[in-house]
Amino acid sequence: MPLSSEPLIQLSTVPSINKRAIIIGGSLAGLFSGMLLRTIGWQVDIYERSTHQLDSRGGGVVLQAEVIAAFKQLAIDTENLGVVATERYYLYKDGGIEKVAMRQTLSSWNILYRSMHRNFPNQHYHQGKTLAQVLPEGSKVTAVFTDGTHETADLLIGADGPNSTVRQQLLPTTIPQYAGYVAYRGLVDEANLQPAAAKIFTERFVFYDLPNSHILAYVIPGENESLVAGKRRFNWVWYVNYDELTELPALLTDKNGQLHTHSIPPAMMAPAVERTMRDYANLVLVDPFKTLIAATKEPFVQSILDLTVPRMAFDNIALIGDAAFIPRPHTAASTAKAAANALALVAALDNGADDINKALQAWQVDQLAAGNHLCKHGRRLGG
Ligand SMILES: Cc1cc2nc3c(=O)[nH]c(=O)nc-3n(C[C@H](O)[C@H](O)[C@H](O)COP(=O)(O)OP(=O)(O)OC[C@H]3O[C@@H](n4cnc5c(N)ncnc54)[C@H](O)[C@@H]3O)c2cc1C
Repeated sequence: MPLSSEPLIQLSTVPSINKRAIIIGGSLAGLFSGMLLRTIGWQVDIYERSTHQLDSRGGGVVLQAEVIAAFKQLAIDTENLGVVATERYYLYKDGGIEKVAMRQTLSSWNILYRSMHRNFPNQHYHQGKTLAQVLPEGSKVTAVFTDGTHETADLLIGADGPNSTVRQQLLPTTIPQYAGYVAYRGLVDEANLQPAAAKIFTERFVFYDLPNSHILAYVIPGENESLVAGKRRFNWVWYVNYDELTELPALLTDKNGQLHTHSIPPAMMAPAVERTMRDYANLVLVDPFKTLIAATKEPFVQSILDLTVPRMAFDNIALIGDAAFIPRPHTAASTAKAAANALALVAALDNGADDINKALQAWQVDQLAAGNHLCKHGRRLGG
């Protein structure tokens, strides 16, 4: 288990400042901000629409400095969060390999989520609660849920992701745009990959570039957070262009005929779409990646989105994480950005809790600049 025996910050010793925050969305941005706010004495309740514990089925996340900084502030062990890769391999069609030294830690969404979720008090993490509306009321803000209940607090944090209900209400014309391509993704247990291919992918970041497309793979922790060789998983991501009007709808229609907004989860891809993807992989990829995709039992797909917002601070309301900015995944920065938003928000409130809106205004200056910069960088990388 990735937790150290070191206890978490003794929250009972943090003086209460009698301020309450409501957080909408109990994924990474919600947990980073909720846990960090508790360290400065705020009462926090997280409201998550999912009725069960979230699970990404183990997708990979490149571990960045901001996540480590947030975990250190929360006294969560950072030593066992991922698999260390020390080099990159760029594969070529003729079988050649270019090797570049680069050290990175490759984690999984599940480890980061579970590391925080198990340390957040259960009675303040409310599942099956879907926000319907936010109502700013003087120096307070009220969240109205679809079940008819409501909660009032000093601050509401919209950490409700790409289709944020909070953002839809506050910035109705700001919506994510399809970037022109999708990411096919998949996971393969180490034990299920042929040894020759496994040798190429083990403990390195491996890329193959092809016209208007590229595919990458790396090892991440196993299903049960195992970092032990042989019990981990290969994680791959393949970017392929599709036309938004003529091709994308078929890709985002699952095996039951249901059209999804942005992604199809594992085991739900339509058989014809999956077959076409596998045939195309066999046609254009190099052997190690062909083998990796052939060994993938349940590939999944998500469309790549661009989103920037003109503001993140509103009356007693903050927008954070993917609710505010969605950088392209080539930046490997969405999770780090969620951590950075939360770290800065909590520092601003710690310095100026007497005037929450002044603190929010000060906070958003750097966060807007960083979000815009990251999204621009991602568009350059994505081409
Ligand atoms: C289940 C899951 C698995 C993921 N797996 C990966 C992965 O493997 N690799 C990766 O790089 N990224 C993954 N992501 C995305 C990653 O979490 C984000 O890109 C990034 O970390 C920022 O997270 P976020 O909390 O801002 O947004 P998100 O992670 O999208 O979380 C938003 C949360 O808000 C909840 N929500 C939305 N609307 C409402 C509402 N009206 N009321 C209440 N709750 C609401 C959603 O259910 C969701 O839990 C995953 C996200 C989720 C939700």
